[in-house]
Amino acid sequence: MQQKLSLQLLPHQAASETVVKEHVAKITGKNIESITGFHTHKQSIDARGKTIWVNLTVNAFIDEPFVQRITETFNFQDVSNAARKVIIVGAGPAGLFAALQLLELGIKPILLERGKDVRARRRDLAALNKDGIIHPDSNYCFGEGGAGTYSDGKLYTRSNKRGDIDRILNLFVHFGAEEKILYESHPHIGTNKLPQIITAMREKLEACGADFLFEKKLTDFVFEESSLKEVITADGDRFKADALILATGHSARDIFELLHCKNILIEAKPFALGVRVEHPQVLIDQVQYHCASRGEYLPPASYNLVQQVNGRGVFSFCMCPGGIIAPASTGPGELVVNGWSPSKRNNPFANSGMVVQVELADAGWTSNTSRGQQAGINEDPLRMMRFQQMVEQYCYKAGGGNFKAPAQRLVDFSSGKLSASLPECSYQPGLESVALQEVLPGFVYSALASGFKEFGKKMKGYFTNEAVVVATESRTSSPVRIPRDPLSLAHPQLKNLYPCGEGAGYAGGIVSAAMDGEKVARQLALMFQ
Ligand SMILES: Cc1cc2nc3c(=O)[nH]c(=O)nc-3n(C[C@H](O)[C@H](O)[C@H](O)COP(=O)(O)OP(=O)(O)OC[C@H]3O[C@@H](n4cnc5c(N)ncnc54)[C@H](O)[C@@H]3O)c2cc1C
Repeated sequence: MQQKLSLQLLPHQAASETVVKEHVAKITGKNIESITGFHTHKQSIDARGKTIWVNLTVNAFIDEPFVQRITETFNFQDVSNAARKVIIVGAGPAGLFAALQLLELGIKPILLERGKDVRARRRDLAALNKDGIIHPDSNYCFGEGGAGTYSDGKLYTRSNKRGDIDRILNLFVHFGAEEKILYESHPHIGTNKLPQIITAMREKLEACGADFLFEKKLTDFVFEESSLKEVITADGDRFKADALILATGHSARDIFELLHCKNILIEAKPFALGVRVEHPQVLIDQVQYHCASRGEYLPPASYNLVQQVNGRGVFSFCMCPGGIIAPASTGPGELVVNGWSPSKRNNPFANSGMVVQVELADAGWTSNTSRGQQAGINEDPLRMMRFQQMVEQYCYKAGGGNFKAPAQRLVDFSSGKLSASLPECSYQPGLESVALQEVLPGFVYSALASGFKEFGKKMKGYFTNEAVVVATESRTSSPVRIPRDPLSLAHPQLKNLYPCGEGAGYAGGIVSAAMDGEKVARQLALMFQ
């Protein structure tokens, strides 16, 4: 017989298969020998009280042979000679999962990616971190696997209405991720493991007959009436296909410019902007687990904070326990930070984006307006993008160049005081002590300054000068939306152009971008019927 049971165990108990079996035996009134094994269905940590519990839901095998978990299988077809071909521009999560879905539907994907494969890309990341040299087509956002490859690989999403999350997680497991991502409440892969998984996806796509072309940057479209005919890449190559999935991510500013210049409808979109805050991980563990040391059975602690300040949302974003702050810029003269962590999350720092909602009306802020003042609202669909870029440029200048980031201690930030010294930080290009109220837009600075104090009340120990504030976290989501018809998912002006993923404004994060890729691929296949 098999029985589903909920258990509440101490962390060291939950880590022991024998102890879990003992608890199952006790609840079911059986001998431990009768419990032949179990599958974990859900696992979460409850750290609200003094005693920290691990909540487990297991499917126990009782008095019957244990059978290993059967993972989902996928029907990837050979599409080498498929009648239908679809061009996918961008090999991030949206583009890759769209391509894998097309294989299952018997349609041949042709992937055009401006960046390099994961291995070559790693060298460009090293040059950026160590020497401050940015490659505009190969960086933390551009290249095989998109912004997802050297990301943190947290796989949780709030957008469970957008698609089948389990299917995405099962696909990750199929291509090499650990099975625990299927049941952990906060699944995470880690930057060290993602590249192999992304490579395995590409190898499957190529083995099934998909074309995967690197260093192919889309630079122009040719269309006739309401149909896209051809795409042209930077090297002059031209590609014809039945349809085009545009999955170029939120950092492809040249694509937004191109669409706008070709009179293809795009819209300005609100996004969030702020900073990354880094604390010693030990401090976050002590605050969250209410103990001197978390011991060996609890993972490095995380947090999730949100506060309304003067009607504006201030919130933590993409928290990375045991992580590293990375330079996520895509061009020269712009400073962008983000965070990642290895699978073990064993770095001594905890970092998180701390961002403020930026509304369409805020986009008028310029260097010539005083902090918080609006210079006026216009109808330029690229205004939010330009605002984002302007703040990134200010931060680059304030850091003094070479991707050094302007930074301030946390309490000093909120009291507007220049920090006399800065603590050790994981950000490799280095920090420069700067009064960030002189750099960030006024409404962003003041919301963060108040927000940090409030977070300190919610999480005793958070508001400390041991923490450092690093600017700027600006690529939280796309500042532009590429509209699509709600039914066909095609662009309202071009019936075979499918805007997709985070760059088009339909996703925020790896899982939701992957789900959007699948959704668009399925919808597009209907058009071919
Ligand atoms: C450091 C870092 C950490 C992150 N951590 C997490 C996390 O833990 N969890 C999470 O859910 N999300 C995380 N994210 C965000 C996540 O990576 C993105 O939400 C996700 O990758 C978006 O997927 P996408 O496919 O829509 O776009 P992208 O991943 O941005 O992919 C777009 C692709 O299009 C290519 N491209 C752009 N322009 C062109 C062109 N003209 N021609 C050809 N190709 C082009 C780019 O090179 C890129 O490969 C992180 C991001 C970064 C940078």
